[in-house]
Amino acid sequence: MDYICNFEEVTARDFHYHPGDCTKCALHTSRTKIVWSGKGCPMPMSPWAKILIVGEAPGEQEDLQGFSFVGRSGELLYEALGAADLNAIGNDSSVQVYITNVVKCRPPGNRNPTKEEMEACYPNLQVQYTFQQPELIVVLGKVAAEFILQRPVKITKEHGNLDFINDGYKDVPVLICYHPAYVLRNQKPEIKQGFFQAIKDARRIAYGTNDRVHEESSR
Ligand code: URA
Repeated sequence: MDYICNFEEVTARDFHYHPGDCTKCALHTSRTKIVWSGKGCPMPMSPWAKILIVGEAPGEQEDLQGFSFVGRSGELLYEALGAADLNAIGNDSSVQVYITNVVKCRPPGNRNPTKEEMEACYPNLQVQYTFQQPELIVVLGKVAAEFILQRPVKITKEHGNLDFINDGYKDVPVLICYHPAYVLRNQKPEIKQGFFQAIKDARRIAYGTNDRVHEESSR
């Protein structure tokens, strides 16, 4: 599993596959809904957004509603996106951010997804990646970071850092970021500021500097 995406492999294997019925791992037996995207962009993939945000797995609310990041972590994530003037809402070219998870079905009791579950779900992320061709991937938290980068990641040390993965054709930047649930648990203002700053950095990397955001962050 070297590449997040290998076009030949993905087109041959997955574009004919109907992901709504996925039974590739045991999580299908306990899920309510498969969770592909954030609420504002209700499609299994987006060709427009230059930023792909990847969390870990759906939680309880996400499983019930069928959208990623609809709970408290999501509120914080959308607040940070708003502060960075990044739009994650809409089914058209105005959408700048597409939000998904490594695993599309909720692990029971919100446990971390297992390696087997992440690998079974990986073709879904590959298809999303291939379709979107993002300029930047933002990984939220250790589980997503380690899976995408395929190496150990210490989030507290590496938050805000850029790494790269090769998709078989080019190097794609990956911004390592705290998981919003960690930011909520932690309560330290500098952790929240760091999270908001990383999301602003994501905008700068994918879309160039935004004057308004730039002015606000330098106040
Ligand atoms: N945490 C995640 O990693 N993903 C979600 O969709 C919700 C909470």
